[in-house]
Amino acid sequence: MITTNYFDPANNTRSGDEIRAMQDGLIVRQLAYCHERSPFFRERFAAHGIDPRDIRGLEDLRAMPVLMGKDDERRSAEESREKLGHPFGMHLCAPLEDLHLTATTSGTTGVPTFSYTFSRDDIDRLSGAIATRFRNIGVRPGERVLFCFALGIYATTISLFGLRKARALPIDIDARAGTEVMLRMAALTRPQWLSCTPSLAEYLAARAPEIIGMEVGELGLRGLILTGESWATIPGMKARIEAVYGARAYDVWTPAGHASGHSCDSEAYHGMHGIAPELCTSYQDLIDPVTRAPIDPVHGAIGEMVHTSLQREACPTIKYAYGDIVQLLLDECPSCGFRGPRIKLVGRSDDMLIVKGVNVYPAAIKSVVAEFAPAVTGDMRIVLNAPPPTILPPLVLRVEHAPETGAGDLDDLARRIAAALHRTLKINPRIEFVPPGTFEKATRKTPLFERRY
Ligand SMILES: [Zn+2]
Repeated sequence: MITTNYFDPANNTRSGDEIRAMQDGLIVRQLAYCHERSPFFRERFAAHGIDPRDIRGLEDLRAMPVLMGKDDERRSAEESREKLGHPFGMHLCAPLEDLHLTATTSGTTGVPTFSYTFSRDDIDRLSGAIATRFRNIGVRPGERVLFCFALGIYATTISLFGLRKARALPIDIDARAGTEVMLRMAALTRPQWLSCTPSLAEYLAARAPEIIGMEVGELGLRGLILTGESWATIPGMKARIEAVYGARAYDVWTPAGHASGHSCDSEAYHGMHGIAPELCTSYQDLIDPVTRAPIDPVHGAIGEMVHTSLQREACPTIKYAYGDIVQLLLDECPSCGFRGPRIKLVGRSDDMLIVKGVNVYPAAIKSVVAEFAPAVTGDMRIVLNAPPPTILPPLVLRVEHAPETGAGDLDDLARRIAAALHRTLKINPRIEFVPPGTFEKATRKTPLFERRY
């Protein structure tokens, strides 16, 4: 039985070819719309010598060069602030009076961009996809979802529209209110679900006994809905969170309102399932992060995801490379039977290393090393003697061994880890062991590099 439904139920019975044919029609319409409405897109098309009328569908779109990156978006926003007095960018395609919601990413790097700017119809469609995601995960009408993110002007706010559309009741707490407020509200309101970042979920679990006098496992949650960090592919992390909460943890994603997807109800992690192919072509369009050339979207392919909106009115994107490196999975999901494309997040293009011409992602190295637990703690650093991405071999990894691993076992362990890394990632690293607890534990994103330059 297929338990993961598409946003548009008609897609549940369509073949892959029929879904792509539906996308072809939407691509032609979206490109014509953007060309007509926005000087930014007219300039981008002209700069690459592209007449949008020549793009007949997905095949032509995949062959097109990338038109936008984060810097182009930032420049476009700067220009609209100067010329038009608003922050939404020259790629804004709708009149200002049609805008209904705006939000930014967390803005940790540079000036934030208002990538989450939507018209009323945009919100209707996207919140519908998000509601489908919550229903697929098992959120039922009337259930309470403790929703703990930085709210207000931030991206996650759009999810509240989807939660309400699924007729769930969000208990929305701005995560900046602090751990104590979040835990006390959990104890008071007894939600069935918790939605937050994975690192916050772990932190709340650690603090609960001291603050509310109970383990998070006693809250009786039915599940966790986690987003904002690449976590589900780190071996052991999903199982650890599920064990401490006594509930299933799901991975969800909607970068800049695209690629709406979620993982399914399964012990093993089978990636995020792309449930809204009528809203973007993100699951069909990958490029090599270095050469920027298209990558054949075959099962197992790894590349940078390129977003093109379909049916977006306010701030559509066309061939927008955002830096997320994903692995594409095209077989039927072994757990839920979903037949559409799925992806696993592999890393960010700005983290990528090149070792003897091979592209390597730190998160992928860490996953392989962590598989050697309990002989290792899972914590490690990649030594950089010069600015990345190119590494002069050998690639040096400093790996924490576990307290119980004896000095006599380390040579053999190093050989086995190096062999596994060679087999899976085609690299020949040098492993240096350090005692457990050497690396400082980060409460937010764990650093993977030790920079010595
Ligand atoms: Zn599945």
